[in-house]
Amino acid sequence: MIFDSHSHYNDAAFRDDYRQILQHIQQSGVSNVINVGADLDSSRLALEQARENDFMYCSIGIHPESAAQALDDSVMSQLKEMLADPKAVAVGEAGLDYYYDERESDRVQKEAFVRQIELANRLDKPLIIHTRDAMKDTLDILERHPLKHGVVHCYSGSRESCKNLVKMGLYIGFTGVVTFKNARRALESLHVVPPERLLIETDCPYMAPTPLRGQRCDSSMLHYTAQKIADELGLTKEQVIDITADNARRLFGIK
Ligand SMILES: [Zn+2]
Repeated sequence: MIFDSHSHYNDAAFRDDYRQILQHIQQSGVSNVINVGADLDSSRLALEQARENDFMYCSIGIHPESAAQALDDSVMSQLKEMLADPKAVAVGEAGLDYYYDERESDRVQKEAFVRQIELANRLDKPLIIHTRDAMKDTLDILERHPLKHGVVHCYSGSRESCKNLVKMGLYIGFTGVVTFKNARRALESLHVVPPERLLIETDCPYMAPTPLRGQRCDSSMLHYTAQKIADELGLTKEQVIDITADNARRLFGIK
């Protein structure tokens, strides 16, 4: 059964047919999903949804796009309150994103990232890390502020950086991007991730895998992602699904 380690069912893209979609993905072989928060409001909704659905868990945190929120002590204490719920199994997504010109300053992003590393370590929960066009600074911060448990999600960096992240004890999450035509880099990184550190994820509603690219993504589409990873590693799709589900349960502490 598939474990989707990174989804956003709290996104407006699912508002109209949320219940049908959750039913659909469970019927297509998905056993669990992590519903990921990106700011205070979406974290709150992620938790509410996780409480309503047995198979869903959630992550509570502030994405670099909203980094300033994490510098506000009252926001941080609300996150901490939510993280006391047993359905809130991780902190994040948090990290660095230098992709857009219009963005929070590097200083604010870094401070928000460090604060959430410290929160995750204090609560002994994994941190879900988002990093885009910021690998050097991400590695730098993780070296100076070692994280106890975590995953770098939607991995798109180089093979070398991937090796460093694995050495730090982190898990690596791969999305439908591995099925895209220009995915060589992501596929090469797959080979330096030990099987026990590999996760699969949709990052839905984004990143629908080929041949469904461009559609609204949901967790049922992970069959394509798992197949592509299996082909690359010389495994069966079922092996990839089983290994990554075991890994996700271990990382997020789910029985
Ligand atoms: Zn995400």
